[in-house]
Amino acid sequence: MTGHSRHDLLRQGTEYFTREFGVEPDGLWSAPGRVNVIGEHTDYNDGFAFPIAIDKRTVVAARARGDRILRVVSNGFPGVVETSLDDLNPDSLAGWSAYPLGVAWAMAQAAPAGDPTGVDLALSSDVPPGAGLSSSAAVECAVAMALNDLWKLGLGRQTLARIGQLAENRVVGAPTGIMDQSASLLGEPDHGILLDCQSLHTESVPLGFAAADMGLLVIDTRTSHSHADGGYASRRRSCEDGAQAMGVGSLRALGPGDLPRAADVLDGQTFRRVRHIITENSRVLDTVAALRTAGPAAIGAFLNESHMSMRDDFEISTPELDLAVSAAQALGALGARMTGGGFGGAAIALVRSSDADRVADGIAREFARAGFSVPHIFPVSASAGARREL
Ligand code: ADP
Ligand code: MG
Repeated sequence: MTGHSRHDLLRQGTEYFTREFGVEPDGLWSAPGRVNVIGEHTDYNDGFAFPIAIDKRTVVAARARGDRILRVVSNGFPGVVETSLDDLNPDSLAGWSAYPLGVAWAMAQAAPAGDPTGVDLALSSDVPPGAGLSSSAAVECAVAMALNDLWKLGLGRQTLARIGQLAENRVVGAPTGIMDQSASLLGEPDHGILLDCQSLHTESVPLGFAAADMGLLVIDTRTSHSHADGGYASRRRSCEDGAQAMGVGSLRALGPGDLPRAADVLDGQTFRRVRHIITENSRVLDTVAALRTAGPAAIGAFLNESHMSMRDDFEISTPELDLAVSAAQALGALGARMTGGGFGGAAIALVRSSDADRVADGIAREFARAGFSVPHIFPVSASAGARREL
């Protein structure tokens, strides 16, 4: 929680709720955004990813009502959105409230019929939306934690992650995987989450960044390209086509030993898409192995290779992201890569803490020299996952 203490954020969340709804909330829950350290576009291919929960969070103050009304406000988005549990329909929710109310819809499916009461929800967040830090999962997971408690559903975190994903897929209409919600719900300080998107098995892996005096810089390019949605969908299609042509249910079933056959069977573009997924899965596992045996400095090479693979094989990078990465590397970062879905958004750089300011300033200078708009550069640290705060 940069900029203010946890105490301030909770006080503000309580005051915001009380101002909007005229009563005290029953409780406060929070969930963080995330940064993916490595493993991009692997989630929908049943592969591996390695995200962290970050020190930026969405707080939701909530209170159960005596009726079936749902009301939600957000300090970042306009309006009081009001509906009834009886009218909740995944096809009629739109705009920002589709995220919190989509979760309410998905949770109500899991609740005993007729049982859940209405709820008032007030969201406050310091996760910047649309910067590739998954502000959407932070909202979904904070609301899922709150409703799980207020409705006494007793659902586990893995189930809450699937509920967040269901809300995003079915209600918002974004065909995303389960990585973001898993990171937000399962994160721990100075740990990454190794996520097997096939078995949904997760493992918390010590990063050792704190002891090594290292950290991650996020370079938010503040660009987002209009073809991002189409680009995402077409990459998914290429992966499905590649898997089908290779005779497997998902690309997860393939390893580096399958690359020669893939080169024979697939057209050039599909082959490169498939090669990214196969090699990226290996890099995730190599990263986790390196953290366990050699320490954090050893993962830099995998970050660099991941970026090249996304730039050249998956073709989801942009000139701004490429410059963020190459400038960070030239300035002495241990490794750097674009992170997130691509076509804009953010890059990350692994830096020695004593180098962070110098690297950040240098990247900003390179952006100015290239005539790109000013990037937003800030450190993130791996932080606790979603929790009840009060
Ligand atoms: P990202 O998850 O990478 O930040 P998305 O496009 O997936 O980007 O999600 C951003 C959307 O999530 C916002 O446009 C808004 O609809 C919703 N959202 C994010 N943060 C909040 C918030 N604090 N309050 C309400 N809605 C939010
Ligand atoms: Mg999102």
